[in-house]
Amino acid sequence: MRRMRPDELKRIPLDRLKGVGNKRAGMFAGLGIYSCYDLLFHFPRAYEDWTVKTIEEAVPGSVCAVKGTVSAPLKKNMVRRGLTIYKGSVFDGTGKMNISLFNTAYAAASLRQGEEFVFYGRIEGHPRSKSMSSPKFMPSASAPPIRPLYPAGQGLTQTVISGAVKDLLSRVDVIDDPLPEEMRVRLSLCPLDEAVRTVHGPESGEKLDRAVRRLTFEELFCMQLGLLSLRKRERAPTGKAVGRCDMSRFFASLPFKPTKAQMRAMREAAADMMKNVPMNRLLQGDVGSGKTVVAAGLMYFAWKSGFQSVMMVPTEILAEQHCATLKKLLSPLGMTVELLTSSVRGAEREELLERVANGVTSVLVGTHAVIGDRVEFYNVGLAVTDEQHRFGVRQRRKLTEKGGPAHTLVMSATPIPRTLALIIYGDLDISVLDELPPGRREIRTYCVGSGARERVNGFIEKHIRAGRQVYVVCPAIDDGSEDSAVLRHKRLTERFPGARVGLLHGKMKPADKEKTMRMFAEGKTDVLVSTTVIEVGVDVPSATLMIVEEAEKFGLSQLHQLRGRVGRSDRQSFCVLISDVKGDEAEERLKAMCSCSDGFEIAKKDLELRGPGDFFGSRQHGLPLLRIADLHSDMDILESAAEEAKKLYSSDPDLSEPEHEPLREEVNALFEQASGA
Ligand code: ADP
Ligand code: MG
Repeated sequence: MRRMRPDELKRIPLDRLKGVGNKRAGMFAGLGIYSCYDLLFHFPRAYEDWTVKTIEEAVPGSVCAVKGTVSAPLKKNMVRRGLTIYKGSVFDGTGKMNISLFNTAYAAASLRQGEEFVFYGRIEGHPRSKSMSSPKFMPSASAPPIRPLYPAGQGLTQTVISGAVKDLLSRVDVIDDPLPEEMRVRLSLCPLDEAVRTVHGPESGEKLDRAVRRLTFEELFCMQLGLLSLRKRERAPTGKAVGRCDMSRFFASLPFKPTKAQMRAMREAAADMMKNVPMNRLLQGDVGSGKTVVAAGLMYFAWKSGFQSVMMVPTEILAEQHCATLKKLLSPLGMTVELLTSSVRGAEREELLERVANGVTSVLVGTHAVIGDRVEFYNVGLAVTDEQHRFGVRQRRKLTEKGGPAHTLVMSATPIPRTLALIIYGDLDISVLDELPPGRREIRTYCVGSGARERVNGFIEKHIRAGRQVYVVCPAIDDGSEDSAVLRHKRLTERFPGARVGLLHGKMKPADKEKTMRMFAEGKTDVLVSTTVIEVGVDVPSATLMIVEEAEKFGLSQLHQLRGRVGRSDRQSFCVLISDVKGDEAEERLKAMCSCSDGFEIAKKDLELRGPGDFFGSRQHGLPLLRIADLHSDMDILESAAEEAKKLYSSDPDLSEPEHEPLREEVNALFEQASGA
């Protein structure tokens, strides 16, 4: 297949490869691999180090590769029906090692006497009698020093996948490089062809590192280029500059004094809104830091200049809560705050849409219903989204574009370290609420084993008796385990016959979910057993105890969000993490929860422990799914990619020069996939 551009490979179907027929092509499709291009960029998820050790060097207990010659044909032992063991031994110049295989007649027969193989597995036994059971093995002539492990499944084995990759690589002479040569050389990145071949069959750890670095760079570079052009579209002038105004009535009507951080955030945002280019600001503040008031102040500010505001939140409950809060704050000042969700129907909806269209409504709060086709605004000046991680870039843009481009405020409790946020969001400005309102008590957090279940129940009982409410969060809805929400709900109902125990999970109908949540919010339920559907934003001040089952199954930031559901009043709140799992990472996570209550600290720790792949959750962010780059550990590459992207962008923003065409293709492909198009 000669010299090829990566995107040309997209047009070549997989069944052109050796060993891939119709059936296997279907299996590959199941892994999301449709073309030779997809296969080429189906990178291994891990590697096994098959660097050969001598039998003498191999330490019992360690996992390693050993090269040995088969001493005699393997002996078959029928242990019982359905269990056959094949035993044999291999030797090298330094010693002998026993081998056993289970139920694998074919594999056993392939280990022919006198032939040399590399075996990979855990060394068992003791120094004078070593053995390996069920080792992986390959003829020593074809065993690589480092063996790639591909994401497999769909009936495809590692052997089939690596066979197909090998065949493909042997047919393509050179994969053309989309990166400009000058840049590649200047940054000493290896050519794409070399990088791809190395990733699929590395000769050494160093070469692999170099290849991964190059591929990481390319991916982040394309991401940055794509983000730059997205942003340009977002920044057309608005003609919606808000005029200077006197905010004293707003502050005078607040039931409390704003924190310094809230004041600062309002000032920063107001300065943006007075300009003719749209504000694009992220308001980050830990749960409970008081983001809503900041939004309310800015809505008042916009209103004084005759602009409407719209706020989009991910769920109906949140929409109702925010609407009630904003009404309380803003209607005494003469503003009309209204709610639009899919539950607002018929004549009521028509009338509301009318008021929105002719400007009677000053603030419209709602779910994604507010970006519905029939919603027309009179004059939106400010668009706010809360808990932005539930919305995609596209939805947010749609909100901003309703009624012409407006100023945008994105509120998030998911703290992203500033450097990372700047690079990912680029010129999105950030205000941080780094201060909680006064009088808040730290939530006391404990970690216990499930052996303490009865003590935990006693604690729950105490809370119910005192007229307070309890959340119990479970990792699964109903997987049959004791810790799934459905079973836990049953157990707790049995255990507390007098109490009102509710159940909430994602498989319930939206209307039922709303009802359950509302009952809890209104204090009509004592204990709410749920999955993580309660994670976002809900405010029930009399809930003062949060129990998390199988806490090790949750990420740190998620645990922090969950915990933020309690501690919403001046009463002491508690969080109990139940976990029996021992192990470095899981234990470290839970320990961090018990010792730390600062969301930013926790986010930093989370990034350290997990990397941002998980941190950012899914592709809902509208960021492309990264194949190889890790936004945390590849920070230095990210910075250099961002810088290079800016340079290239300023000289050829549309990537329209012929030599940038392959890059343009790649950037487009990356973002098509991100937006789910
Ligand atoms: P979040 O940032 O999590 O969205 P909210 O806006 O829901 O936080 O505010 C949490 C609670 O703190 C609300 O009950 C709000 O009335 C209260 N609050 C906000 N700002 C202050 C303040 N400056 N002083 C006292 N209470 C405040
Ligand atoms: Mg909030």
